[in-house]
Amino acid sequence: MLKTISCGDLRAEHVGQDVTLAGWVHRRRDHGALIFIDVRDRHGTVQVVFNPETAQEAHATAENFRNEWVVQVNGEVTARPEGSENPDLPTGAVEVAATSVTVLNESKTPPFSVNDNSNVDELLRLQYRYLDLRRADMRDLMILRHRVVKFIRDFLDKRDFLEIETPILIKSTPEGARDYLVPSRLYPGQFYALPQSPQQLKQLLMVSGFERYFQIARCFRDEDPRADRQPEHTQLDLEMSFVEEEDVLQLIEELYTEMIQTIMPEKKLVTPFPRLTYADSIARFGTDKPDLRFGLEMSDISDMAADTEFRVFTSTVENGGIVKAFNAPGCASFSRRQVDGLIDFAKLNGAMGLVTIALNGEPGPLDDLTQEQIRSAAARFLSVDQVREIANRVGARIGDMILIIAGQEKTTNFALNALRNEMGARLELADPNELDFCFVVDFPLFEYNETTERWDAMHHAFTSPKNDDEQYLESDPARVIANCYDLVANGVELASGSIRIHTAELQERVFAVLGYTKEQVRQRFGQLLTAFEYGAPPHGGIAPGIDRLIMVLTGRDNIRDVIAFPKTQNAVDPLFGAPDVVDQEQLDELHLKLNLPEVAEAKAGANG
Ligand code: ASP
Repeated sequence: MLKTISCGDLRAEHVGQDVTLAGWVHRRRDHGALIFIDVRDRHGTVQVVFNPETAQEAHATAENFRNEWVVQVNGEVTARPEGSENPDLPTGAVEVAATSVTVLNESKTPPFSVNDNSNVDELLRLQYRYLDLRRADMRDLMILRHRVVKFIRDFLDKRDFLEIETPILIKSTPEGARDYLVPSRLYPGQFYALPQSPQQLKQLLMVSGFERYFQIARCFRDEDPRADRQPEHTQLDLEMSFVEEEDVLQLIEELYTEMIQTIMPEKKLVTPFPRLTYADSIARFGTDKPDLRFGLEMSDISDMAADTEFRVFTSTVENGGIVKAFNAPGCASFSRRQVDGLIDFAKLNGAMGLVTIALNGEPGPLDDLTQEQIRSAAARFLSVDQVREIANRVGARIGDMILIIAGQEKTTNFALNALRNEMGARLELADPNELDFCFVVDFPLFEYNETTERWDAMHHAFTSPKNDDEQYLESDPARVIANCYDLVANGVELASGSIRIHTAELQERVFAVLGYTKEQVRQRFGQLLTAFEYGAPPHGGIAPGIDRLIMVLTGRDNIRDVIAFPKTQNAVDPLFGAPDVVDQEQLDELHLKLNLPEVAEAKAGANG
């Protein structure tokens, strides 16, 4: 080894030892004759002192040092002179008095500073990702990610799970996204698909009799770019035989609880994780991903709204829509401008508008409410009694403001959920140190797709219906509830899973509802259906996302920060410059002819 100890590991107990360090020049300060260099390696930095009186040659060499040079230093660990200790630095009690030094490699001036976490243009960071990853923040994220994955592996190993790899080159495994395709050279005109998840493979492993499988699996989905999406993401893919929903949920709850208590004991964790049905979650929070760190629960006020003189309300209800509201405590004092801001926000999130009712006055019960205290664009259409009734339902008191959205159910819920999260943030209701997990259960099996005019699987095609609902598969798909569950934390969906179908007969019925022809089923899912005919055990599983978990644990909102080498929002890798054109030869080998839109053609011409 070119080093005897890590820079970041030096402590007072090492005083008096001769050490050899190797690392990067983190920062340099000249103090009169003395040169101070912070040398950094993965474990941290330590201060090295070059004194011309005692180590003339080393001092002369250090004079040339620039940030990010790679150096090896021999020296003695000494206690820092009294008064110059740095309590903020783990190595701050000591320094190393250099006796000799070797330059292992020089460095150009980096395009951004590595020795702080200052804001740098993200594209530049991604282009020089190897330098970006030297920064303390990013290093810590990668270390945390390693520890999380290691914890998962150890935890599952202790519970008798086997880690089994599944192929990356496979056939289409639909999870609702577009496939990434890989052309086959040996079979011209034929393609592999990258797995959207190992879903069918893990089910086949259950048919194989492994009973408990997991994998830290990469999933590839060619979806339209979105801020929190990546073309490839990592999930803990897991499947178990002979289990019911409750067994999977318990395992996951134990895994997350123990993991967080071990790795991030400072986090406030609420256990046991509450369970909400899908219907309940939508009713109370407008979403199946509720942030439970704060209240602001919603109430349907359609019945009351229908009784008012307010056209916006009455016509919405007449047209089959809903009127839904929640109370923002203490917000009666919001200014006109703040209210306008909220209206814009609601519109941005798809609502036609937002009705606010501020109940002005000293905070207190509703009994004394008068017309003068009601501030609302809809005030003249609402009687005091009606306002009081609405306020009662949403739990508002004088001093509060009621936020109401009217519209079709889906858009209303969507906008109101966004508004609820926004208010939670504005009022700082969510404790950033708190992690509020919950399980959302009892999802519908199908969801009607207005565009294709077909039923889609809400989770995926392999999810089983509740026993009692099987009978409605063909006659009333909308009412079939699935053995399907999500894990949500702080408003983020962390995992989805289900108890699967394990007989060919039921699987074929579900495929039929989804509109697959017999031929399509045979071609796409033949392998699974055949396997089901050879003694498939009842089984189920789940697949928690790892990237999202690290985001939630660290409070990051940029998925790229938790991935060592991510793509941009537009699915580009600026470091390697992928995707890129390939040589004509490669295309010929694959028997591929390009038929490009004009823009791409220009690029292909320029590069190729
Ligand atoms: N394969 C599913 C997914 O990737 C998870 C599961 O059902 O286990 O979302």
